[in-house]
Amino acid sequence: MTPPPGTPARIGRLAPGPVRAEARRLAALGAAPPAGADESGPAQITAATRTLAAGSGGQVVASGGTTGRLKLTTIAPHQGIPRLLDSWRPLHPGDVLLNLFRPGRLWGAHYFYNALATHCGASVLPMGPLSAAELPEWAEVFRETGVNALAGAPSALADFADAVRATGTELPVDTVVWAGEPFTPGRREAVARAFPDARPWGNYGSIETYVIATSGPGCAPDLLHLLPGQQLEYDAERTLLTRTGEGWPAPAVRYRLGDRVTAADCPCGAPDALRVLGRTDDRLKFHNTMLRLGDLLDVARAAPGVTDAQLLLTPDPADPAALGSVTVRWTGPAAAMATAHPADPVRAELLRRVYALGAIAAQHPDSVRAEPVDRLERNSRTGKVVPHLWHHPGAARTT
Ligand SMILES: [Zn+2]
Repeated sequence: MTPPPGTPARIGRLAPGPVRAEARRLAALGAAPPAGADESGPAQITAATRTLAAGSGGQVVASGGTTGRLKLTTIAPHQGIPRLLDSWRPLHPGDVLLNLFRPGRLWGAHYFYNALATHCGASVLPMGPLSAAELPEWAEVFRETGVNALAGAPSALADFADAVRATGTELPVDTVVWAGEPFTPGRREAVARAFPDARPWGNYGSIETYVIATSGPGCAPDLLHLLPGQQLEYDAERTLLTRTGEGWPAPAVRYRLGDRVTAADCPCGAPDALRVLGRTDDRLKFHNTMLRLGDLLDVARAAPGVTDAQLLLTPDPADPAALGSVTVRWTGPAAAMATAHPADPVRAELLRRVYALGAIAAQHPDSVRAEPVDRLERNSRTGKVVPHLWHHPGAARTT
C-alpha cells in the first residue's frame, strides 16, 4: 500500500555520503534546488545536463509541450546504456530488432533502442511506426533480414500486432521490448495473439532520466525492478529519484517524477520491485468526490475484450476545475458486441468496480458514459495513446 502523505517510504537504499557528494556536484553544475526546496525538478535537470554537455556533448530530448512548456534534457552521449546492460540485456548477437519507436521531434526513444541493439551486438531496423496499409510492402524485408525482436510503446506494439494478424503476415518474433506506457492486459493480449512465443522485456523511466527500472520475462507483468545505484523515496503524492555513481544518462538527486509508485514483491525473486500506480496529478473533483483518472483507465483497460481506452473529460460548467462528465472511449474485440449507452459493457464494469462512480451514475446517469471507437486519439509526437482529453464546447485540449 502507498503510505499516506508525510511518511515517505523507500525502494533501494543509497548511503548518505555519496548522496551528499552528488548533491554538491550538481550544485556546482548550477543545479541546486531552489532555497528551501527538498526536491529538484525540470529546471535543475536542464541546467545540470546542459553544463555537462558543454564538456562532452549529448543528445537534447524533450517532454511535455502539449499543455505547457517543453522540458529539455541533454542526455549523455552513452545514453546510460553500458551501465544499464549490467542489469538488463534483452537482445543478444544474432537478434534482429524492428524498432517501432517514432523518430524525430526530440523524442529520444527511437535512437536509444538503435543504440541498445548495437551495444547488445544485435542488428536493428530503424523503422518507426508502421500502419496495416504499409505492412505488406515491408513484410518481405522483415523476413529477409530475419526480424525476431520488436521495440515500441505498448500501444504501437498492439497496433503492429493487430496489423500483422489482419494482413496474415508471419513474423517469428520471440522478444518484445516495451517502454513509455503501461503494458496493459489488453495490449499484452493483442501482442500475444500475433506473437505467441514473444517474451516481454520492459523498462520504466522518464524522458528526463531515461531508464529507472526494468523487467524481464520472469517478472509479474505489472512489476519492474529499480536499477542498482538508485533510490526512490515516495508517498501518496510524490516520488523522488536519486542516483549516484558513474554512467547515468542524466543525474538525479531527489528529482520529482510525475508518477506514483509503490514497493512490491516480484515472483522472479529479484530485489527492489515496484509497481507504477499512475500519474501524481490525475485527481479531479467529480460530483463532490475526488476521483483518480488512472483508476478509471486501469479498470477500463482491464475489462474483458478491451484492448485500450482513453478518457474524454468535460468540465463542470459551474466549476471549471471540476469534472462534469466523463466518457470512456475504448477499442477491442468486445466492440463488435457492444450495445449503445447506457448498457455499454465497459460502463457496466466501471460502475461495478469503481464504487464512487456507481454512486455518481445512480444520481447522474449521463455523467458517466462509455463508447467503443475505431481508433483512440494519439500524441502526434510520440504516437502514444493520449490517456485523457478535455472536451470544451467548440474546442479540445489534451493533457
Ligand atoms: Zn521481477
